[in-house]
Parts: sequence; C-alpha cells; structure tokens
Amino acid sequence: MSDYGFDTLAIHAGAAPDPTTGARATPIYQTTSFVFDDVDHAASLFNLQAFGNIYSRITNPTNAVLEERVATLEGGVAGLAVASGHSAQLLVFHTLMQPGDHFVAARQLYGGSITQFGQSFKKFDWHVDWADVTNPENVKAAIGPKTKAVFIESIANPGGLVVDIEAIAKIAHDAGIPLIVDNTLASPYLCKPLSFGADVVVHSATKFLGGHGNSMAGLIIDGGKFNWSASDKYPTLSEPNDSYHGMKIHDTFGDIAFAIACRVLALRDLGPALSPINAFMILTGIETLPLRMARHTENAMKIAEFLKKHPAVSWVSYAGLPDDKSHALMKKYTPKGAGAVFTFGVKGGYDAGVKLVNSVNLLSHLANVGDTRSLVIHPSSTTHRQLTEEQQIAAGAGPDVVRISVGIEDAADIIADLDQALKA
Ligand SMILES: *Cc1c(COP(=O)(O)O)cnc(C)c1O
Repeated sequence: MSDYGFDTLAIHAGAAPDPTTGARATPIYQTTSFVFDDVDHAASLFNLQAFGNIYSRITNPTNAVLEERVATLEGGVAGLAVASGHSAQLLVFHTLMQPGDHFVAARQLYGGSITQFGQSFKKFDWHVDWADVTNPENVKAAIGPKTKAVFIESIANPGGLVVDIEAIAKIAHDAGIPLIVDNTLASPYLCKPLSFGADVVVHSATKFLGGHGNSMAGLIIDGGKFNWSASDKYPTLSEPNDSYHGMKIHDTFGDIAFAIACRVLALRDLGPALSPINAFMILTGIETLPLRMARHTENAMKIAEFLKKHPAVSWVSYAGLPDDKSHALMKKYTPKGAGAVFTFGVKGGYDAGVKLVNSVNLLSHLANVGDTRSLVIHPSSTTHRQLTEEQQIAAGAGPDVVRISVGIEDAADIIADLDQALKA
C-alpha cells in the first residue's frame, strides 16, 4: 500500500471493502462491544496476546481505519485516534511522564495547549519549561535532568511560524529524549515531521484532516524509532506493568510500543475515546485533504499578498511571503506552501481589530481553524482576553493582531470581504 502516492493513500490507506457486506465506504461500527469466540479468545485479548476488539473505549474498527490512514500518511508505524487534539496530548504525556517530571515546549503554541500544559498538567505534577523556538539553542538551554520530552508545532498556531524540526530533533536526541510534533496546521500533505527526526506526531484532526468544521478528533502517530529502554526515563514503557501481569510494553511490542502504551494504558484508564461517527467524518474529510490543502495554501498566498499591500494593514506574518522571517525554513519543511493560518496587524490597534471582525460578511468570526470556510478572530478581544497586554504581545496576540484561517472559497470573494471590512 505505501508504494502508492500521497493522494491515493489519502483515499485508500487502511480501508478495504467490508468483508461481510461488501460496503465500499468504511462502515460506522456504532457498537460499544464485540462478541468473543470463546473464553480462551477473550483471555488472549485481555492479555494483549492477540489483536482484536473488546470494547470501543480501547479499539473500534472504524477508528482503526482512521489510525492506519493517518499513520500511513505521516510515515509512522502505528496510530491511535482519540476524542480531540487535547486528549491526544494528554495521553502522550501520560505515557511519557512521572510525577515531578518536566518537558520543554515551544513558547509559540496554540493557546489551548499553553493553558493545558501550564495549568492543568501542574495538577499531575508535570511541569513545562517554555522555549522560544525561533532559536533552537533555547530548547537546549531549557533541558534539565528531569526533562522527558520536547514539544513543538511544525507550523505554529496562530503566528504561522515554521519551526526548525531537524535541529530541535537533534538537540532532543542528544539529551536522550523524544521530540513530539503537533502537525495540525501543516497536515502530512505539507510536512512530515517524522522524516525530519520527530519521534511522535500529534494532531487535532478537528482542523485540516477533517477539514469541514463538523467533528472533533485527535491522533497520535508513533514514528517507531525511539529506544524507550535505553535509559530508565520511561518506566511506563520499559518496566513491568502490574495491570498486564508484569508485561514490559517496549520489550513485548517493539517499534509500536508507544502507540500501544497510549492505547492500553492511557486511553484505557483516562478514557477519551473517539466516537466511530466522528472517525467516519474525519476519514471522509481526509479523502480530499490533498485537494483542499493545495487550494487552502494557494488562497492563503493570495490573501497574504493582498493584505501586505493594504493601507489599513501594518504587517503580515505569513511564511509563504519571500521576505518573511520563516521563509527559508518554509522552503525546507513545507515546500508546497506555508499553510492557511496566519496573523496580520491592523493600523488602529484594538478598536480596528474589533471593527474588522464585526464587519466581515462572508468570513466567519469564530474560534476554529482548518475549515473549508474562511475564519477570522481577534485574539485580544476573545481567546487571549484574560491576559494582560504584555502577556498578549508575548503570545503573538497583541491588540492589533488578527488571525485568519483562509478557506477554499473563491479567493476574489475572500479578498472583497476583507477589503470592505478593513475600510469599515
Ligand atoms: C485546535 C488545536 C489543538 C487542540 O485540538 P482539539 O481538537 O481542539 O482538542 C491542538 N493543537 C493545535 C495546533 C490546534 O490548532
């Protein structure tokens, strides 16, 4: 299967006609549980000696197609689909961390991840150290003896910064720890972080993978290369597990150990299972991922060029623009385009930003990205309004900042709507 091109795999990877009915589209296996052949079969499933379905919190055949599809597109060895991007992140860190442990995360991250890492993770006694990833040396400086991982976004939300994955992977590996990359804004169509040395990829499939703004989902993709038993840093993977009769997950499952641990320990016990209906919606979205991403990025470039010349706009941060600070990294990591989410500054600050989002007609004013529809938000009056102005500026969400997620409508219509709103 993996000899096929990306566009073919986006439609076919993981899927086959249903063996019982011949159904060509992947059926929605809307069932909580699966009948055992007999007691021995049940025992082998519970002991992880055979692969099979027990209960949809842990495995489901519709979700399994989504897992194999995205793992194939990312070039990974195994995947796990869960209820949301945030739950994917929770399960990854639950597998990596012990109480008192640290990890290094990029300062340039989706706002929800900054809150999850900085606030809620503290309750597990997991601690984040932030690093400005415009210089990878900052990551090195932030790594200490209790650091268990480095976490970055390939294209950072919202600023559209392209991050130097290869340099940061090397720094992580020199310290004996894995690099986790959130590939939500790029999608595997624009960037494959595993091919640049990342060890695990996570997604909010809610965004471009699903692509239509109708279903939440998250993915964890295991690159299969990290040696979890090279040190005593990852006891969840390398040490005997009491809930499976002393089984060592890495010893037993080899290169797919991380994905297995996320499933049979973290997902089993924390429980953010993906509904099979949502898996079906995301799978349907992925079939057109290559077509949509090509159009998203083509439109985004046109909108960025238009905004750059607009008299009411003071700056545009889009890595596709030749004079952008991220342009050189974009050519290396996302050569097909810089994605469709970026920020720009409006002259007139806070009030002008509010006026713009109040004046759009075609564009939607809401807190999401990666929809077919074009979306705008003014972070300082919405997602970042709890922060002080100083904190807003540090997060790339100062009073003049507007974030756009360019959709796949006619570019001329998006431009016309922005133009009238900027003039308002
Ligand atoms: C939306 C988003 C998330 C969180 O995903 P949910 O599906 O909303 O839980 C994580 N990372 C990035 C980059 C996002 O855009």
